[in-house]
Amino acid sequence: MEGEEDIIGWFEQVSSEAALAQSRTLRKILQQNYGVEYLKKWVGDVNIHEIPDDFTLHSIFTSSIPLSSHAHFEPFLQRIADGDSSPLLTQQPITTLSLSSGTTEGRQKYVPFTPHSAQTTLLIFRLAAAYRSRDGGKILEFIYSSKQTKTKGGITTGTATTHYYASEEFKIKQLKTKSFTCSPQEVITGCDYKQSTYCHLLLGLLYSEEVEFVTSTFAYTIVQAFNQLEESWEEMIHDLSHATLSSRIDIPEIRKAVLKVMSPKPELGWKIRRVCEELMKEGWLGLIPKLWPNCKYVYSIMTGSMQPYLKKLRHYGGGLPLVSGDYGSTESWIGVNVDPYLPPENVTFAVIPTFSYFEFIPLFKQHATTSSADTAIHDFLEGQPIALSEVKIGQQYELVLTTFTGLYRCRLGDVVEVAGFHNKTPKLNFICRRKLVLTVNIDKNTEKDVQLAVERGSQLMSQLSGAELVDFTSYAELSNQPGHYVIFWELKGDVNDKVLGMCCSEMDAAFVDYGYVVSRKANSIGPLELRIVERGSFNKILEHYIGNGAALSQFKTPRCTTNHFLLNILNLSTLKSFFSTAYA
Ligand code: AMP
Repeated sequence: MEGEEDIIGWFEQVSSEAALAQSRTLRKILQQNYGVEYLKKWVGDVNIHEIPDDFTLHSIFTSSIPLSSHAHFEPFLQRIADGDSSPLLTQQPITTLSLSSGTTEGRQKYVPFTPHSAQTTLLIFRLAAAYRSRDGGKILEFIYSSKQTKTKGGITTGTATTHYYASEEFKIKQLKTKSFTCSPQEVITGCDYKQSTYCHLLLGLLYSEEVEFVTSTFAYTIVQAFNQLEESWEEMIHDLSHATLSSRIDIPEIRKAVLKVMSPKPELGWKIRRVCEELMKEGWLGLIPKLWPNCKYVYSIMTGSMQPYLKKLRHYGGGLPLVSGDYGSTESWIGVNVDPYLPPENVTFAVIPTFSYFEFIPLFKQHATTSSADTAIHDFLEGQPIALSEVKIGQQYELVLTTFTGLYRCRLGDVVEVAGFHNKTPKLNFICRRKLVLTVNIDKNTEKDVQLAVERGSQLMSQLSGAELVDFTSYAELSNQPGHYVIFWELKGDVNDKVLGMCCSEMDAAFVDYGYVVSRKANSIGPLELRIVERGSFNKILEHYIGNGAALSQFKTPRCTTNHFLLNILNLSTLKSFFSTAYA
């Protein structure tokens, strides 16, 4: 597979025979890892090489190996981290462990990383690029590595993106491709996201005429980067004009690599200064096309918890197409955006049936019919897991993965909806992370429900004031009776208290979950509380995660949380609070 047509042709082929591709994938995974301790525990000495037909293989697999969650693999992963190289999860010893972002559960998890992980990353990037028909220009890429460290057992750990950027696969790609990121490797792997962002921007400006698109893994990072541009553009222009580098960049490797590619560009500096002065007057509207006149689109994950940043991205994008990035996790890549021209609100992901073996647990939203505390424990009713070829359009599922890296029937915790098919492979709509649920008693609101309510409140705020919602999260306050929802807002600009009170009531009324509505009417859930936090509070949350080893490339603000560190940061920076009034 070399060219774009080949890779699209390959995907057309595997997606046309998705069921067969899945059977082959399951067989390959089991053949590769036959006899490992985890599998032996469940299937004993059954020799899968002797099971000729796929149907029998599938039924032995699903009847002998239980559905699991990450917790089942933790003891094995800990043994690997401690240096046990016996075949625990895979026949090939695992020498690298990824750390998931930890933004769902507040705790980073070990996930195996193998050459297969890097190869599939490269493949999905190429496939997605082929669907977007790349032109071969430069890419302004806001990408970051965190530190790679060693466990006491000698295993390399770091985020999945860090391993990818350190992999041979990535280095070869960078060498081979004529069009590559504006920044040298030292900027990507610098391990200080503020210094790296400054340099990504500076070099992006240096190549301003050549940039074909602007990208990051998650949309949050682009917003974060352009915030920095708004603050530091004069310093950047000085550096650009004189081929100097701000003293804030103090990592010698980054300084050396950046200064190496710079030469004085006074004319370019002058031109960019004029554009920035104009942009400042217009609130940085259309920043991207004005500073990067040949930029064709912005490409990043804009779905799920990234959707709230769309407004700001559209502001910076000034009409440029926003192309939503693909769907994956530290455990495995899942689906590719084959319709890049669709707006992010409508994007779906076509499952790549050769990457992992996928199962789907049908989920049915429960309607609260009783006030029993039991009902609050289960957010959804579940059906039996089914194969990829059996999913139905319009149905929601939790994804279950069996990977080449040694996870077997592991629940991912993401809720997806089947929106249609690309040939015979399902196209998924990302709905939410299942664990992120706001609940006081019989109510259940997912992070998506919270997002929708906040959108209603912030729309009202935009109509009545010029302020902007920078970020938000929520939690269920249960320490007093009745419990109630708390939503934290960080704002840019001034809003009077009366308007904020109205926004608070608007959000309360926007939760349509039956359990919530009934409980609010009966006052078994109290009025919704809106807490306004200081500017920079959400940045402190980011710093907290990064301080714990997460990378900016992976960061996702959780839209509902019970994490004490996070709540502590927000509570300490709360400026004022409002309660909703008059629940209808
Ligand atoms: P991590 O926990 O760091 O492995 O991040 C993976 C998680 O990010 C996934 O399980 C999803 O919840 C979320 N995610 C990844 N890609 C997308 C996407 N395209 N749209 C929405 N959410 C995504």
